[in-house]
Amino acid sequence: MEKYHERLVKFKEIAANSENIVFFGGAGVSTESGIPDFRSQDGLYNQSYKHSPETIISKSFFYRNTSEFYRFYKDKMLYKGARPNPAHIKLAELERDGKLLAVITQNIDNLHQEAGSKNVLELHGSVHRNFCQDCGRAFAGIDVILDAEDVPRCACGGIIKPDVVLYEEPLAPDILEKSIKAIEQADTLIIGGTSLVVYPAAGLVNYFHGKHIVVINKAQISANSRAELLFDENIGKVFGDL
Ligand SMILES: [Zn+2]
Repeated sequence: MEKYHERLVKFKEIAANSENIVFFGGAGVSTESGIPDFRSQDGLYNQSYKHSPETIISKSFFYRNTSEFYRFYKDKMLYKGARPNPAHIKLAELERDGKLLAVITQNIDNLHQEAGSKNVLELHGSVHRNFCQDCGRAFAGIDVILDAEDVPRCACGGIIKPDVVLYEEPLAPDILEKSIKAIEQADTLIIGGTSLVVYPAAGLVNYFHGKHIVVINKAQISANSRAELLFDENIGKVFGDL
């Protein structure tokens, strides 16, 4: 791999010459804002949770064991102090400059919007939207969940459920369709904080017919054969230097 400085110069050239950038982001974008990937730390949970994160964050578990679901969810998935990092901020800037079409993210933390991004396609939903399962009333933000002593409930008595795609639930078809359309229109695809080779990035990248693929990811970098440019540095650093 070329030296960081040389790759950065190439990345700057690509960004300068692109008009329709699409960014696809995974958990690594959020970890640099202090939000750990709940899936990658099974070992830690064994001490205080009887089930794996994948079991707890599933649709059937939510309805069967709502109280335990929320104990985990509040503890491991809501981060009140998290703030956008230089990657979020630079992506919002590229959109404002008319160079970026869309941010497609697997993250649920709202940090792209907090940085100022408008067209954010949230494949896995958002912890900032919640709905009563009985009357449909919407609750914005995470305080309604954090402030509830046990299971958060609506005034009507119904259980409030976050608008997050749980295991056993399909991705929202409209978001998936918009993501595919954005990738089809892109001249440059930047994949950050996830590998190009894992689901769903691997499938979505097949819709890309543009010029440049740039991957910024700390692991699994050797397998990214379609990528023109690879970074294994921190994503916040690379976007901060762009
Ligand atoms: Zn209700």
